[in-house]
Amino acid sequence: MENWGFYMPTKIRFGWGQFQEIRQTVDDLDGKRIFLVTGQKFAKKSGLLDKLSDQLKGLTLEIFAEVEENPSIETVDRGAARCRESECDLVIGLGGGSAMDAGKAMAMLQRNPGSIREYLDQKRVCQTKGLPVIAVPTTSGTGSEVTRFSVITHKAKKAKPAIAAPQIFPDVALVDPELTMSMPLKVAASTGLDALCQAVEGFWSTQGNPVTRSLSFQAIKIAMENLESACLKKDKESVINMALASHLTGIEMSNIGNTSIHPLSYPITLDYGVPHGFACAIFLPAVIRFNAQAIEDRFRDLLPLLELPNVEAFAERVDFLLEKLKAPRRLSEVGVRAEDIPNIAKRGVGRSTAWNPRPMSEKDIVEICKTIL
Ligand code: NAD
Repeated sequence: MENWGFYMPTKIRFGWGQFQEIRQTVDDLDGKRIFLVTGQKFAKKSGLLDKLSDQLKGLTLEIFAEVEENPSIETVDRGAARCRESECDLVIGLGGGSAMDAGKAMAMLQRNPGSIREYLDQKRVCQTKGLPVIAVPTTSGTGSEVTRFSVITHKAKKAKPAIAAPQIFPDVALVDPELTMSMPLKVAASTGLDALCQAVEGFWSTQGNPVTRSLSFQAIKIAMENLESACLKKDKESVINMALASHLTGIEMSNIGNTSIHPLSYPITLDYGVPHGFACAIFLPAVIRFNAQAIEDRFRDLLPLLELPNVEAFAERVDFLLEKLKAPRRLSEVGVRAEDIPNIAKRGVGRSTAWNPRPMSEKDIVEICKTIL
């Protein structure tokens, strides 16, 4: 076995009702002036903002509720400036991957100079740990609460690059699955499918190591057994399990990245407005089939636990799951035309494509896209 390493400095607090403990977490980090980074609507609408204000009584709470889905450079820079002006000493990122990523980037910019654009364009590197961050996920999908990444939309480049640095890991991940109960079906399905894709990509990645593979193995099993029920029935056990699956994939993915599916999703989100998880999952069955021979051995112990005889049956089960969750299954459903495919293939190759278990060229991507048009 090759040499390998693993790093995860974030303190984890996981469990139903954990959000009630946020004051303790803030006090532990000695936060006095809190900068809350969240989405535009849901935190207010769901009453979470009021609950948080109650908990943080006596402290200063500056609210930045301006984060859009797939946050932009402009939003991050605006939030970072507001955080600086209000002289905050701790950031809470409350929401899905978008709000947490924006919060992580804003916190980083408090102690590193310049615009987030310069970091995305690789003109600067993150040198210093930013303000302390408490990441509180309200979706079960990205695992961003435990990753060293912040994915930001770069409109000029029509791309979604990430800054990646150990200084970006949140200090505390406060995971309360109860906060995900308000997700409508579309958000629950899309984010849950993102977790499943991350888990599968982690499991078959050529970068995997014994620790990440154990995490991905567990995450695939948990997501396959709970995603449907967490979305359609919303029973407490499945909802908790999906929060766990997402969290495990974050820890794993932070160490080894993704493979071919995540880069492919970016043009689908940017050009056709498809939510991140759906944009990943639309490729999952086809890429499982493309990789079939290369992953048979790796999946040998896992498939019987899912009562599946082979990799093809796994692809079929995923396809069936997409149908049940009303996720798009064909590219034409989201507006892709045959003539768009070469452009998708060109922009859908990322650094992590090289870690796919079977080499995947632009030409292969064109063929994959044709099978799911
Ligand atoms: P999201 O954060 O964009 O949220 C989707 C929508 O759901 C938003 O409108 C949001 O306001 C709403 N929402 C969130 N929680 C809700 C709740 N409990 N109830 C009702 N509505 C709720 O979606 P996401 O999939 O969690 O995050 C996607 C982003 O994360 C993308 O930009 C993606 O590239 C990024 N990402 C980051 C990492 C990382 O490691 N940093 C990993 C994977 C993905």
